[in-house]
Amino acid sequence: MPSLPLSTVDEAELLRTMCEWLPDPVYLIDPETSGIVFCNQAAHLDLGMERNEVLGHSVLSLQMDVVGSEQWREIAKVIRDSASYVFVGRHRHKAGHEVSVEVHTRVVVLGGCEYFVSVARDIGSRLSQERDLLSRDAQLRYALNEATDGLWDWDIRTDQVYFSPQLKRMLGYGPYEAAAPRLADWSDNIHPDDKRRVMQTIADHMNGLRERYDAEYRLRNRNGHYLWVRDRGRICARDDEGRPLRMAGMVHNTTEHKQLEIELQRLASHDSLTGLLNRRESEVIVPTQLRLCSRLGLGMGLAMIDIDHFKQVNDVHGHLAGDQVLRRVAELLSGSIRSADYLFRWGGEEFLLLCVDVSEDEMLALAAKLRQRLADATWPEVPQLGRVDASIGVACFPGHVDQSELILAADRALYRAKTLGRGRVELATRIPGDA
Ligand code: GH3
Ligand code: MG
Ligand code: MG
Repeated sequence: MPSLPLSTVDEAELLRTMCEWLPDPVYLIDPETSGIVFCNQAAHLDLGMERNEVLGHSVLSLQMDVVGSEQWREIAKVIRDSASYVFVGRHRHKAGHEVSVEVHTRVVVLGGCEYFVSVARDIGSRLSQERDLLSRDAQLRYALNEATDGLWDWDIRTDQVYFSPQLKRMLGYGPYEAAAPRLADWSDNIHPDDKRRVMQTIADHMNGLRERYDAEYRLRNRNGHYLWVRDRGRICARDDEGRPLRMAGMVHNTTEHKQLEIELQRLASHDSLTGLLNRRESEVIVPTQLRLCSRLGLGMGLAMIDIDHFKQVNDVHGHLAGDQVLRRVAELLSGSIRSADYLFRWGGEEFLLLCVDVSEDEMLALAAKLRQRLADATWPEVPQLGRVDASIGVACFPGHVDQSELILAADRALYRAKTLGRGRVELATRIPGDA
């Protein structure tokens, strides 16, 4: 069919056709009665009615959120006073359900009479999307709150910190306590040994040296107990010059995990029977201390201590009594040395003592004192146990230069103490050319 030029089409027909096929419902309303005097196809389809049915209705009977002629008069006044009036409400569908609408209304004059033209856009699907988003947002917040042990939000300019109820709960406070905490309320409770490192990590992030703030530290709760926490955060708002305005983050209570980790570390480096450092630790500590003493020009001494005839203790008194003796020997030796010295359980009934900043004479005197202390000890937990004596081999630096040589030399000196009759201290002598 050939297309006609638009100028030949009746303008009224053109406008009626366009209005009829607009996707949004359009109503023409008598402002005085609120009656609907015209509507397009989208309008009556939207309401599930025939066109004539709609024309019998008024705004009051269609719009669920306009109740009574009083309210209509007020709305009509506002519509007349504004260029375009927007109202969000609900239309009543013929089937009984609601249709959410956003109604744009303005005044028009037709044939010398005033009317309102309303375009009522169905926003049901948009609202449900928003509701969905809202609930998803709320769900996300809920999940985040529950998955962590707390959230915080620091307003850097005002120095106010928001603590989530979970975070307050972790620190021993109710949700309405500690109403407006400041940064110091948190930082003052960081363990003194951790505080400097934690504050430095925050400063590094704020200065752009770290991509995020991430720290594990001890935080004091209301009862004065320290919790281990993993705390992570990030700047989330900056001013026009890029200066940080806000930082937010989350905290995990890692106390149980950390205690397990500390316990595992302790088990890996300590002997379970005596609680002393184990031989594996000596392999790290002896060379480290040797290097340190060498650099600082200090003397260092090793004493290899072996209980004499210990097998007999087991044989006569039983293995459990033997264990008790070993534990008590460890206590006696530990109680007789300086805190800077290291005592290791080297093997079954052998102990290794490392002393820094000692001369050969001092080391020999200490070894003699330790031997005497064991010999003088009483053993109430093992009745009928006689004297417990030990043989000790001492080797000192300088004199024996590397770790393997020092330990070997102490071991040789110990062997000599055994062969010379036990219950004595022997000093290693360096044989030139002997490794
Ligand atoms: P010596 O004077 O020559 O050192 O004689 P000794 O009997 O002390 O030495 P020996 O090496 O023959 O025996 C050491 C004993 O220490 C044998 C072993 O059963 C015992 N022993 C090693 N570790 C433990 C332990 O953890 N508990 C107990 N109860 N005994 C242990
Ligand atoms: Mg032995
Ligand atoms: Mg022995």
